[in-house]
Amino acid sequence: MGLFSKEACVFCDTEVGMLKRSKLQTKEYICNECKKKTNPFARMDYTSKDNAQIMMDNLAQEAADFEASFDDAENRFQSAERSFKTWDLGSHRVQYRCNTRLGAFQIISEKHSGYEHTPVFYFDMMIPYQFSSENKNLEDIRKNEVLDTDAEYVTVKEEKDMEGKLTSCTVIIPYNDICIREIKLEGSINDESDKDTFYGLAEKINKDRLSWINNGIFDQERKNKMQIRNLGDTAAAVLKAAATGGNVEEAVKQGINTANDIEDGKVKQGFFGKLFRK
Ligand SMILES: [Zn+2]
Repeated sequence: MGLFSKEACVFCDTEVGMLKRSKLQTKEYICNECKKKTNPFARMDYTSKDNAQIMMDNLAQEAADFEASFDDAENRFQSAERSFKTWDLGSHRVQYRCNTRLGAFQIISEKHSGYEHTPVFYFDMMIPYQFSSENKNLEDIRKNEVLDTDAEYVTVKEEKDMEGKLTSCTVIIPYNDICIREIKLEGSINDESDKDTFYGLAEKINKDRLSWINNGIFDQERKNKMQIRNLGDTAAAVLKAAATGGNVEEAVKQGINTANDIEDGKVKQGFFGKLFRK
């Protein structure tokens, strides 16, 4: 186990030296090539072999689903979100985009070139990391944290030298994932004013999170209104069927189907059109 000894990668079996591998939380080694198939913000010392495998299996699909989410855009604002915006965090260039309806965002860092997938992060995971258990009370507390409209989870940390001169800043995005825990975007700066971009990006992500929550509340209210209309419609259809010797069971079944479709978001504006027509 010397400094120059080679170890086999647990995924591809290639023997690699110390500079070309990382040690997983479960003590096996992962080579740099296999690591590029995982989330670039994941820390290998937090990542078990199984969790590394899960990332390798899922990242491509998550990125594809995120891309496709823009195609479902109901309005032009969503397609405007599709393009990446560049943020120069001092010396460190990153790109960011967000779909506030889906509640997910992507970050590309120039420090991660060679990684296979652009990772997708989700606002319902963007809370301080906490070891998860089966504890139901904890789950409820966490739900409140996710939906807390006052919270500004993304922060900026400033680093100063001995003379008190600002040398670097870091955007810190908490993330409730065992392998990631925090997304840190650090950049060194030459001028005090360089820090504005860091605060700008932090503010942008906090605002996008709030938009996502507000979109969700709006959707829920809209769904509730549709459900109430559907209840009335179903009751009327059942009464009519009962009075005229029609199929009561079928009327109930249709009402339930519509209720499920509303919850799944399958019933949209067209539903209102139908309501008002009769
Ligand atoms: Zn490997």
